[in-house]
Amino acid sequence: MNYRHIYHAGNFADVLKHAVLARLVTYMQGKDKAFRVLDTHAGIGLYDLSSEEAQKTGEWHEGIGRLLGDDLPADIVPLLAPYLDAVKALNPDGGVRLYPGSPKLARMLFRSQDRLSAMELHPDDYETLHRLFDGDFQSRVTHLDGWLSLGAHVPPKEKRGIILVDPPFEKEGEYERLVDGLARAYRKFPGGVYCLWYPLKKGAPIAEFHKALKDLGIPKMLCAELSVRSDRETTGLTGSGLIVVNPPFTLKDELGLLLPFLKERLRQDRFASARSFWIAGEQQLAS
Ligand code: SAM
Repeated sequence: MNYRHIYHAGNFADVLKHAVLARLVTYMQGKDKAFRVLDTHAGIGLYDLSSEEAQKTGEWHEGIGRLLGDDLPADIVPLLAPYLDAVKALNPDGGVRLYPGSPKLARMLFRSQDRLSAMELHPDDYETLHRLFDGDFQSRVTHLDGWLSLGAHVPPKEKRGIILVDPPFEKEGEYERLVDGLARAYRKFPGGVYCLWYPLKKGAPIAEFHKALKDLGIPKMLCAELSVRSDRETTGLTGSGLIVVNPPFTLKDELGLLLPFLKERLRQDRFASARSFWIAGEQQLAS
């Protein structure tokens, strides 16, 4: 396991993922009933962007670093508020030195009844995350293969939940594992809200991935993708996507505002692009 998220924390891919995660948490809180966030690949939870590792790549400058001004359009402010307010709360003196990873962000947004189960397999990162939530009875951190938790930890006992699957994509076959993992978990918990993250880069098998997802026969599945630059000159990450199963009914319209804004704000060249569409579900209603 070589991947360490500290090198990438707060980058353009984190911005999309964390903004959408915050929307999902906010939506779940429309009902009083408790829910659980299961974070299968959780990372260390809190990132020091002044650390040597984060400074080495400086990726956050082109992610969260571009969102901190007071110049957000009026229709975007409420959509990003849950996410950006959490970032601001960690940095009361302004700027961004501390950045919340997915488990910390979810936890910061929780009410007293909401719960977190976070899986992390890297031994050091697990220790760090475990320390972060030490003594917090609303959060449980487990040193476990997150793919196993998709079988073992669903459905959550609250019977309401968001399942975030955010693997490092350092091995071959991660797109297929995402599809298989979703299929397994969905069989046990068809009412869950699933959010799967995947990279966009040159040669990525995106069409096959979308087809395999569609072939699962899951009735409601929304896709959001944002590319910040062309993949012609690089084999590195040029964008990222999210698959949201059982999305809140508001999410498609929210993405219709958020994605064009993020495309303009986070673009690194003139080839930036963004799209959201139904892999399964609502398109039948729309046509
Ligand atoms: N979800 C985090 C966030 O948004 O802040 C970032 C997670 S990072 C992309 C992926 C994490 O998965 C890394 O911390 C890595 O150590 C961990 N990891 C890798 N393989 C894993 C596995 N099989 N099960 C659980 N965690 C794993």
